[in-house]
Amino acid sequence: MEKTMEKIVALAKARGFVYPGSEIYGGLANTWDYGNLGVELKNNVKKAWWSKFIQQNPYNVGVDCAILMNPQTWVASGHLGGFSDPLMDCKECHERFRADKLIEDYASEHGIEFENAVDAWSQEEMKSYIDEHSINCPTCGKHNFTDIRQFNLMFKTFQGVTEDAKNVVYLRPETAQGIFVNFKNVQRTSRKKIPFGIGQVGKSFRNEITPGNFTFRTREFEQMELEFFCEPDTDLEWFAYWKQFCIDWLLSLGMKKEEMRVRDHEAAELSFYSKATTDIEFLFPFGWGELWGIADRTDYDLTQHQNVSKEDLGYFDDEKKIKYVPYVIEPSLGADRVTLAFLCGAYDEEDLGEGDIRTVLRFHPALAPVKIGVLPLSKKLSEGAEKVFTDLCKLYNCEFDDRGNIGKRYRRQDEIGTPFCITYDFESETDGCVTVRDRDTMEQERIRIEDLKTYFEKKFEF
Ligand code: ATP
Repeated sequence: MEKTMEKIVALAKARGFVYPGSEIYGGLANTWDYGNLGVELKNNVKKAWWSKFIQQNPYNVGVDCAILMNPQTWVASGHLGGFSDPLMDCKECHERFRADKLIEDYASEHGIEFENAVDAWSQEEMKSYIDEHSINCPTCGKHNFTDIRQFNLMFKTFQGVTEDAKNVVYLRPETAQGIFVNFKNVQRTSRKKIPFGIGQVGKSFRNEITPGNFTFRTREFEQMELEFFCEPDTDLEWFAYWKQFCIDWLLSLGMKKEEMRVRDHEAAELSFYSKATTDIEFLFPFGWGELWGIADRTDYDLTQHQNVSKEDLGYFDDEKKIKYVPYVIEPSLGADRVTLAFLCGAYDEEDLGEGDIRTVLRFHPALAPVKIGVLPLSKKLSEGAEKVFTDLCKLYNCEFDDRGNIGKRYRRQDEIGTPFCITYDFESETDGCVTVRDRDTMEQERIRIEDLKTYFEKKFEF
């Protein structure tokens, strides 16, 4: 059975995971809204990240910083100036595309750095390069381009009532900078000593030129970032530690090894400030895509902020009596992207024979939006079943469904990935037991109602 994006997008819409944004107004390109199940799924993903990276981790603490920051932040981070994509348009068919590959090829042919090529490359030179290499528009095949323009990816707006230059602010393009500017505050208030990390989950905005593939690349998205501060020269060890930690987190939540790959960047591909970078990629129905970028960013960020803000961001190690600007390891994960990866990974169509196909989302129980479906066999049994439901929904997100035949109700729960269904039947009234059905094996077990809480206790751990 083929797993396609069309099927996943259709199921997501039909069952309340993800709807197209502003749909009643004809939508807004590449915006998506999480529905009743999607919000549960994404919250579970974020909870799972927070639980392992912050709550259970002895090194790390969290923050929740403002989206709007002093624009000097973006001068220091390099986003004002550098964070832009080179773009060109085809004059014939008006298709717009990224020119970074062109510039990259040009740079390597001339033995210069990519960044330098962007600045040094005159439009004239570019035109002759395109002519010499007979580069044609990938859409219409013609050979007539506009100049390459830099496109700033940051959303710009104004703070206050007047729209003048001194009121310009930007929506943050990553959550990391809120952490860097608060490094001293958090170190002081948490009384942490190096090595320690600061994590944050929150919205980021990038005016992407080529958004697409459902929620894989959007202009408004959520990130889960950790900035881990360590002593210089211990950075590569910590880099290896966090890389493995991230891989283990994905595996512990049921991501399949064969749908995951780890790609270490070659020296030539590294940012100028990075000593090592790895991408963890997932095999989406549309191909491999980056989920997690893990980078050894050296002391680049704190040094930049120190230079621009003139605040001392050095750390004094009072045991070793040395002072240094800490090195940073940054594992940066997109919450929407990894949620999409878990959704795609979970999607399955099981052939039960005789033309019977069961659509089932095989989420890890910790991620499943609905943990338990409570299904009375008959409407006459609603009262007893409701009591079971009321007790369990204090602990778990449960769904009560007393409509339609039981087979159809099971299938509906399978389709939204509910790992367990409880059937309350006529015997339950007298023997005090219910039937618990497992989503994956479809096996059923008779369990005493009073034992349900203990029965489920360990089922949702990861
Ligand atoms: P890409 O190459 O896909 O644009 P990137 O290398 O620019 O990603 P980072 O800046 O390292 O990405 O951001 C860290 C993570 O944030 C990415 O691995 C991804 O999971 C997520 N992310 C980045 N941009 C987007 C986006 N436009 N939509 C959804 N998630 C995103």
